[in-house]
Amino acid sequence: MNVIELKGIKKTYHLEKLDVPVLYGIDLTIEQGEFVAIMGHSGSGKSTLLNILGLLDKSSEGSYKLAGIAISKYSDDELAALRNHYLGFVFQQFNLLPKLTILENVALPSIYSSSKDEDHHEDPKKLLNMVGLSERISHRPSEISGGQQQRVAIARALINRPLVIFADEPTGNLDTKSTKEIIKILKDLNASGITIVMVTHEPELTSYATRIIKVQDGLILSDERNESESAGVAKHHSRQFKRKPFSLARIKDYCVQAVGSLMGNKMRSILSILGVMIGVASLIAMLAVGNGAKRSIESEVSQLGSNLLMVMRGTSQKQGISSDVGARMRIQVEDINDLQSNVPGVKAIAGYVSGVGQVVAKGNNYSTHVQGASQIAVEIRGLAPSVGRFFTKEEDSSRARVVLLGETVVKEIFNSENFNPVGEYIKINRIDFKVIGVLPSKGSNWGRDEDDKVVIPLNTAMHRFTGAKELKYLDVQVEDYADMNKIGEDIKTRLLFTHRLPSFERDAIRVVNMAEIQEAMEAMAKAFSLLLGSIAFISLLVGGIGIMNIMFVSVSERTKEIGLRKAIGANNIDILFQFIIESIFVCCVGGVIGIIFGSGISIIITKLAEWDTVITSSSILLAFCFSVFIGLVFGVWPARKASKLNPIDALRHD
Ligand code: ADP
Ligand code: MG
Repeated sequence: MNVIELKGIKKTYHLEKLDVPVLYGIDLTIEQGEFVAIMGHSGSGKSTLLNILGLLDKSSEGSYKLAGIAISKYSDDELAALRNHYLGFVFQQFNLLPKLTILENVALPSIYSSSKDEDHHEDPKKLLNMVGLSERISHRPSEISGGQQQRVAIARALINRPLVIFADEPTGNLDTKSTKEIIKILKDLNASGITIVMVTHEPELTSYATRIIKVQDGLILSDERNESESAGVAKHHSRQFKRKPFSLARIKDYCVQAVGSLMGNKMRSILSILGVMIGVASLIAMLAVGNGAKRSIESEVSQLGSNLLMVMRGTSQKQGISSDVGARMRIQVEDINDLQSNVPGVKAIAGYVSGVGQVVAKGNNYSTHVQGASQIAVEIRGLAPSVGRFFTKEEDSSRARVVLLGETVVKEIFNSENFNPVGEYIKINRIDFKVIGVLPSKGSNWGRDEDDKVVIPLNTAMHRFTGAKELKYLDVQVEDYADMNKIGEDIKTRLLFTHRLPSFERDAIRVVNMAEIQEAMEAMAKAFSLLLGSIAFISLLVGGIGIMNIMFVSVSERTKEIGLRKAIGANNIDILFQFIIESIFVCCVGGVIGIIFGSGISIIITKLAEWDTVITSSSILLAFCFSVFIGLVFGVWPARKASKLNPIDALRHD
């Protein structure tokens, strides 16, 4: 059976400005079981011919049949599968992968192979035993001699039971003794039926060959059969070959390679991990701060109640000058009852006045915000006191001098936060008031202390305190959230009517929809988180570009390895995956460390700046997925570059 049939093979290398013709038309048929030695001067085209024979390179012209298969229309990936399935390679430079053990090197082609079937694979240990290296299986290639490395390479070539072994000056780098050993092994393999095609320029080796082909200037000069040597027994080699798209062994190898390559360049790996780590940590911290801000706004807003309308006199900006369009509008206490009974859908209304008061107790003097409020405000604004009680309707209408203090005020005038002031008497602007409760703490909001105030009954405030005839604003609680806008308009209409204002003065009344404020605040919180997020995103991007850089370096450093992997059957996807996994691995490690770091930073921010920060599991998940994504995106380009390499160009790379 013909293993190889070449017809009219020509090869021209295309350099930048120059075409270099190397093979001028080679016709060659090799039968199964032959041991072919290709000889010739340096530069005569032997390696070029062998690379074409071994499907590592493509001819410029001519046809090629391997085991009866015309390969001209085969894709790169199909050629890789053919190499893996039918061919074995032994190179002058051995080309073992330095980070794998001897055993792993031998087993390497099997991970790219189509079948896990025992029938199609040799046992790597058995092969190492055969080449006399069973003691060395866990060594690294650098720990054994050149002759031993070449024996490992032969074992590797045998792992998938090849039809043909190609050897390009396999003994070129070896001493005489090792040369003898290698040639003996090749001879034995040939005797077992494997076809061997070997390039050499050592004439003494040709005595082992069954056929000697001399090449000169890109043409076959002579082709002689060595009568003393007979071809080995032909063994039929036929099996379906179809590569499995995925195998666990391959994935495992990608991961092992990724870890190995990262461990092999520790400094570089640490730097690229650092880049991702900083990005992820800032993402986590920024999200935590953003979420914290959002949460405090949300709690603020929920205290306001979303079914509230605030009614006040209107102001408007006209050409930058604020004009008091509401000057003729004065909201009166009477309006509360009037609106309550004449506007349908209103549930409750509270009126407010406010001023600044000088609070004095126990010789302490403190200036604070004094608010007069309707009794119903206890419900509408959630003012139920933490200590003591709220004032009653009767106390409001009888203008009782009772007061509820904010926590800050308690602290300022009684010198202690935990002091219970209920029952104490204080003076506000020289008027005596009895303390009946402490207001619930509302914390601070955008830098304003919400607990720095006191609340007194509305009527007390209007008649005994400010003397004002006008309410500052009304809180209108509506029955149904959906009617808010309509009720707002009804209130305007009613107020215009009762205050005898013309309808074009609608702007004299301003109705603020709390639901809208709530939305506005939420939008602001969202914008704030988005801003922080985008800053973090940029740092992640920078980290990603760092990774890309490192990956490019890694690809160019490992070009030879890529060449070897392709030669023994790795296809483009395999190489692509290998590098992408490496990049994702860096990003995962950086991501996990970054998450831990970022959480630490948020906790420190909470402690030091007293800012609310919230780390949610979704932000952790987001940060992690994002770092994997970065690894993928920035790994793809270098990985693609690696996967597109031509096997023989990559192998020649130094
Ligand atoms: P041999 O193995 O017989 O010494 P080669 O097949 O390696 O010879 O090379 C034959 C000729 O082709 C040489 O002149 C060499 O310079 C040229 N050559 C080999 N590879 C390339 C290449 N990738 N690009 C350009 N020229 C090449
Ligand atoms: Mg050569």
